[in-house]
Amino acid sequence: MLTTHPFDDDKLREECGVFGIYAHPQAAAITALGLHALQHRGQEAAGIASFGTADFRVEHTMGLVGDHFSKESVIGRLKGDMAIGHVRYATTGDTTLRNVQPLCADLEFGSFALAHNGNLTNAQLLRRQLVRRGCLFQSTTDTEVIVHLMALARGGSPVDRMIEAVRQVEGAFSLVAAAHGTVIGVRDALGVRPLVLGKLGDSYILTSETCALDIVGADYVRDVEPGEMVVLDDTGVHSLRPFQPQGRRFCIFEYIYFARPDSIMEGTSVYEARQRIGRELAREAGVEADYVVPVPDSGVPAALGYAAQSGIPFELGIIRNHYVGRTFIEPTDQIRHLGVKLKHNANRHMIEGKRVILVDDSIVRGTTSKKIVDMMRAAGAKEVHMRISSPPTSHPCFYGIDTPEQSKLLAHRLSVEEMRQFIQADSLAFISLDGLYRAMGDTHRDPKNLKFCDACFTGDYPVALTDQHDSVEPAPRPVLRAS
Ligand code: AMP
Repeated sequence: MLTTHPFDDDKLREECGVFGIYAHPQAAAITALGLHALQHRGQEAAGIASFGTADFRVEHTMGLVGDHFSKESVIGRLKGDMAIGHVRYATTGDTTLRNVQPLCADLEFGSFALAHNGNLTNAQLLRRQLVRRGCLFQSTTDTEVIVHLMALARGGSPVDRMIEAVRQVEGAFSLVAAAHGTVIGVRDALGVRPLVLGKLGDSYILTSETCALDIVGADYVRDVEPGEMVVLDDTGVHSLRPFQPQGRRFCIFEYIYFARPDSIMEGTSVYEARQRIGRELAREAGVEADYVVPVPDSGVPAALGYAAQSGIPFELGIIRNHYVGRTFIEPTDQIRHLGVKLKHNANRHMIEGKRVILVDDSIVRGTTSKKIVDMMRAAGAKEVHMRISSPPTSHPCFYGIDTPEQSKLLAHRLSVEEMRQFIQADSLAFISLDGLYRAMGDTHRDPKNLKFCDACFTGDYPVALTDQHDSVEPAPRPVLRAS
């Protein structure tokens, strides 16, 4: 079965969102709402684990949060005043319920649940070591190594064990974990993935984005700092520092594409950042045209910025079908040649005879841009100019954003002019790296003082890619004996 996800045949998806709440009588219901607000961070599966005085419950589901967690019977089963939850993409053949988070285990101190956004870059190495020590893995997720490291840790309390475990993992991680009496949030030393602290009445919340606080009427307190562990328990909110300070390298692609535009990340509105990037793009790569047209939805804020800066009218020249479901089966071979337009359609009336500037956030494989340029021409556009609000995506992400392998990235294989020819646009331009940094408030990209991870555009990976460099030891070959 094909899904409509663009990158669904390469590797395990690790795009995720997390949510946790401490001390609220409707903990599970609130977690379900929070996960619903984070649905854009992963649509393949969701889970909630809840803790009461004596209760520990967990529910996992494939599919959208609302399909399962809007049922009263389900929320009713998730008793307790603490809960954590998770949404994720997991579209490989290995998509099974056993990989759905929160991962749960009975450890020496009692029940434990863990939800992870990000990607561990030494998980395979750790896993091999742990398997040699006798650990029995239940899933194929990288996150499970943390559970085993906690089980083997010397410390007694969940917090001590968590500190020991996270000091052994490398990569990008924003974790929300729970054990009886405590909810723990941890951000990796560079803070690559987001995590914020919120407050709802007397209860505290840890979650990926502020939009998940807004949905339940919670107040934003602050971002969890890179390298910080926040512990919520009956004595309040505690801040611990398991790692040496290493600066910060927040994922710049969260601003460009991944986060919801109504979220505030590290003090910056995602929507405003996208608009500023669009303005900068117009300054760098202006062109005469009749309309600025966003590729909806992700291209909209940057297109608004481009239009405002250039003075060219913004028009919805492409309409998106919002009901393209996760499980929609793409047309069969017999009708595929018709070029079925599942997701986008040209607003022909607006486009015919016009010179249009299309604005999208990124070109990954080039499939979307090629299709959309073609669609504009078929609708009678006189000229089609493509403007991209990110630099060329030339390197895969190993820190939690779903990207195909490098050979499939258009910008890895082709120059900008070759890409223009491939998508058949009249012109193509990407925002420059310096332009992107200017839009984010710096004067240029200063390699000595970087505050973002921009590895997908530069190949400058701030966290060791241990598993990529570590060659797997071959399994011992069975010895065949002639009898
Ligand atoms: P492509 O068609 O492969 O060039 O992909 C580019 C399109 O996918 C753009 O319209 C983006 O909005 C969208 N996109 C970019 N990054 C991702 C991602 N990590 N997951 C899903 N869609 C993405």
